Amino acid sequence: MGMSLLPPAADKCPICATAHEPQLPHNPQSLYYFYRFHASRGDWPTCEDAAAHCTPQIRASFRDRWTYAGGKWTRPLGREPIADPPAESINQVVEIENAGPEIVAIDEHARRAS
Ligand SMILES: [Zn+2]
Repeated sequence: MGMSLLPPAADKCPICATAHEPQLPHNPQSLYYFYRFHASRGDWPTCEDAAAHCTPQIRASFRDRWTYAGGKWTRPLGREPIADPPAESINQVVEIENAGPEIVAIDEHARRAS
């Protein structure tokens, strides 16, 4: 069974559907970010991906705050982090062919990350 995620509102980031400044990281826990990334990249996003478009200073600060708050800093396996700068993207519908297994995969990813 397929399903679609509606495009983010105009005042939200087109990549993660969360309100943040373009130079700051995407929300690594955004469901929209997970599906959009998976649909276009063929892999699940990690914290490194969410911050890949940021300056080294912002990335380090984000990582410190993330881990201080108890979050696990996740990295891609077998590939380099993929940057998705908000300015180079449009708000788009994300089509999901089969929602079942991917939702399970997100649950497992979330459990690993927690
Ligand atoms: Zn974002």
